[in-house]
Amino acid sequence: MDKYQEWLEKALQNLPRVESDRERLKIPEPEVVTAGTRTVLKNLKAIASVLNREPEHLMKYLLRELGAAGSSDGSQALFQGKFTSSVVKGRIERYVEEFVKCRSCNRPDTRLVKQGRIYIMRCEACGARTSVRNI
Ligand SMILES: [Zn+2]
Repeated sequence: MDKYQEWLEKALQNLPRVESDRERLKIPEPEVVTAGTRTVLKNLKAIASVLNREPEHLMKYLLRELGAAGSSDGSQALFQGKFTSSVVKGRIERYVEEFVKCRSCNRPDTRLVKQGRIYIMRCEACGARTSVRNI
C-alpha cells in the first residue's frame, strides 16, 4: 500500500457512513430501439460514463457477447440483428460484474488501466488490483 492509499484509507475511515448510495451503481436503463433488422442502443455513452469506462470498451464487449456485428459513433451503438432491451441490459449487467465491480470489496469505484497487453482493474476504494481478460 502506498502513502496515498494509506492516507485515503484513513480519510475514508473517518468519514460518516454516507456511502451506501455510492456503493450501489445506478446503471441507466438501456434505451434500445429496433429498426428492421438493426438494433440501436441510444445511450451507450451515458451508460459507459456512469460505469467510468470507455464507450469503446463496453461496445466491444457487447458486440462479442451478442455475437453481432455493429458500429458505434462513440455515443450510440448500432447492432446488426434484433435484440430486446432486456437482453442488452443483461449483457451490461454481466459487464459490470466482470469489468467494473471490485473482486475484493465488490464496489464499483474502479478504473481499468491498460498495462502492455493486459488490463488491470484498480479499485479506488480498497486498492485491490486484479487483471481482467481482454475482450
Ligand atoms: Zn475494492
